[in-house]
Amino acid sequence: MGGCAVDGADIDRLKTIEVLVPCYNEESVLPLLFERLDSLAVAVGEQGKPYRLAFLFVDDGSKDGTRDLIRGYAVGRDDVKYVFLSRNFGKETAMLAGIDIVDADALVIIDADLQDPPELIPEMADLWLSGYEDVYARRRSRKGESWLKKVTSHLYYSLLQKVTNIDIQRDTGDFRLLDRKCVEALKRLRETDRNSKALFSWIGFKKIEFIYDRDARAAGKTKWNYIQLVKLALDGITSFTVAPLRVMTLIGGVISLCAVVYALVVFVRTLVWGIDVPGYASLLIIVLVLGGIQLIGLGIIGEYLGRVFVQTKNRPNYFVEEEKL
Ligand code: UDP
Ligand code: MG
Repeated sequence: MGGCAVDGADIDRLKTIEVLVPCYNEESVLPLLFERLDSLAVAVGEQGKPYRLAFLFVDDGSKDGTRDLIRGYAVGRDDVKYVFLSRNFGKETAMLAGIDIVDADALVIIDADLQDPPELIPEMADLWLSGYEDVYARRRSRKGESWLKKVTSHLYYSLLQKVTNIDIQRDTGDFRLLDRKCVEALKRLRETDRNSKALFSWIGFKKIEFIYDRDARAAGKTKWNYIQLVKLALDGITSFTVAPLRVMTLIGGVISLCAVVYALVVFVRTLVWGIDVPGYASLLIIVLVLGGIQLIGLGIIGEYLGRVFVQTKNRPNYFVEEEKL
């Protein structure tokens, strides 16, 4: 079922929108996803839209039946491509692997778990056809997510917005439609510790938001844990700004200045009133506080240095085990 009600000659004149789906252990939702994607492709064909849909699945090292399901789905269909990565590299890298092989006029990135309704793609495509190059979906509601996740995500994005100079879009996920121009730009960003959301903002191009209600996961469990989210958050900050290093320099400067002033005070006081024996508590507090600040400073330098280290190894971002293009 190719999903197009137009004949062969017309297909050549149609633009193609490729739907990129990163999947990691998603066997429980894939059948439902295929069904929804297929009926969408049929609907798009029937409505005589000036584009057709194609699908690209990136399997990020799944250990369940995900690969078999994708292989089965792709049999005999030239509108379905897939890439299986050699292990689990994380969603960010899985998306890059997909972006690398996109050759359509536009790309839509969508989660496998149906949290982003595929039925919204035509509306996004209309905005694209009217000239926008990056149609990003902004969620009005987030069903099925804990308040802790909502609050931390809100705080993080406010912070990221403040410390970086780029305009990070709030309440958006990776669900968006990108014109070929954006795709080509993204292909050229090869950094290893990726935070795509920040990269999407960084590349620029004509953006427009699109409001939607985010559904809860159709089946299965979220693949993120808090440790990964903290890493993603750190990657977002360290890959876009050196503000934390500057703040440490500033704190260091202020403390040094205070130290000089205090040293003068102590010196003069000792000359005038003689040696002052008490002061154990204040001494200890100052040593501990300074020690703490220094360690934080070292940690921050380490975060950047670690990323420099990883990047200088210049390893490929991922390896492909099997593909059908
Ligand atoms: N995903 C992936 N690799 C991973 C983790 C997740 O490709 O290591 C995919 C996953 O299959 C899904 C999407 O990324 O299609 C979003 O994952 P999830 O729903 O677990 O994240 P959440 O919606 O909770 O942020
Ligand atoms: Mg999800």
